[in-house]
Amino acid sequence: MRAEILTIGDELCRGEIVDGNSAYLAARLWDLDITTCWMTSCNDDEADLVAALTQAVSRTDLVVCSGGLGPTEDDLTVDVVSKLAGVDPVIDEPARARMEAWFSRSGTRVTEIQLRQVRVPAGARVHPNPAGLAPGFEVMVHGVPVVCLPGFPRELTAIHDAGLGRRIAELREAAGNVERVARRIYRAFGRGESQISSACRGLVDGVPGASIHYQVKFPETLVKLVVRDRDQAAADARLAALDAGIRERLGSIVYGSGEIETLVEKVTRRLIESDQAIATAESCTGGMIGELLTRMPGSSKVFRGGAIVYSNHEKTRQLGVKEQTLRDHGAVSEECVIEMAKGAAQRFGVPYAVAVSGIAGPDGGTPEKPVGTVWLAYVGPGDELGTKMLSWPGARDQIRLLAAWWALKLIDDSLPERTP
Ligand code: ATP
Ligand code: MG
Repeated sequence: MRAEILTIGDELCRGEIVDGNSAYLAARLWDLDITTCWMTSCNDDEADLVAALTQAVSRTDLVVCSGGLGPTEDDLTVDVVSKLAGVDPVIDEPARARMEAWFSRSGTRVTEIQLRQVRVPAGARVHPNPAGLAPGFEVMVHGVPVVCLPGFPRELTAIHDAGLGRRIAELREAAGNVERVARRIYRAFGRGESQISSACRGLVDGVPGASIHYQVKFPETLVKLVVRDRDQAAADARLAALDAGIRERLGSIVYGSGEIETLVEKVTRRLIESDQAIATAESCTGGMIGELLTRMPGSSKVFRGGAIVYSNHEKTRQLGVKEQTLRDHGAVSEECVIEMAKGAAQRFGVPYAVAVSGIAGPDGGTPEKPVGTVWLAYVGPGDELGTKMLSWPGARDQIRLLAAWWALKLIDDSLPERTP
């Protein structure tokens, strides 16, 4: 089933508001395996609205509109849609009753102008608005269902949740012969988008209905596998076959699949499960790793604390980094981060510690250690020790975020797999 989303309003076309309604509606349609082929926005202008709606019903199986259901003269949706459907606008009596009850509470009477808001095209299926006055509705235009919703995001989502979502699923079933979509999202961290996509090149070739998509959500990349088929079981089976392929190609770069668990959530959960406490030693990230490790509820069970040691003096004073080490190798060095991690583990009395020191820029780089050079170290129970050097010439905020995520990744890779 192919859908179009049409958002209506001058403010949208002037860039004064961001079109969150389109994103929201597209996500809800995609949840129902409905592909949004077009997202259109137009001004509060009758001729433009007629043109946009006429085009929308000519090229899709479902049109969902937002905006223009208010009481003012620039709210044209009910009139235009009624005209295109060949019916008159009528008052929706339950909506009028709600409006009257609402106004009587403040001792005022409903005026003609306000009543404009509770009009719907005659014969339309009304979608009551639990969060406002103007109801949504659904009407056929040139044989295609057109759903109209108020522009206020709170009202639009309330109408969706109150029953519109179920109704759209019904429309999809009624359309018959609907394509089902099997999909899975993989969360990848540790390589750039282009390396990830080259690793996956050819994966879906020759697999009917299969496609692969990449979305950078810096510093991670979401890899999305989609398989379409009229038969859900067939789509699921082909997705399962591709799943093995993607895991083989991406290996440990994929730290999880599904939409829910981020790296922060995963690492916090695994630390809690393994009942291991951790401390941090941060220079260029200035506390970001600690911030990440305290995001999740329950983190107090595992995150003990951290030292922000931006200056060399503090690296020595708080964590016992040797002055000799700083003189011989510099603060951005493997030797320094090892001493930082060991110092943090010792001072906080924990088995795990992670340390980071780097040059986030834009100044401070040298030919040997250019901006983007970051050293990380972690220590674990026993004498476990690991280090990692990054060399990524991005902007300051990106380098810092990348470094903080890599600290989490080092912890994730070093935590033992739980034996069930
Ligand atoms: P009313 O005229 O009663 O305000 P309406 O149904 O006519 O309601 P609009 O006037 O189009 O809706 O929009 C009302 C408000 O909702 C806008 O001022 C804006 O803040 C928000 N809004 C409208 N359209 C969108 C959209 N596409 N995305 C996000 N917000 C929107
Ligand atoms: Mg309006």
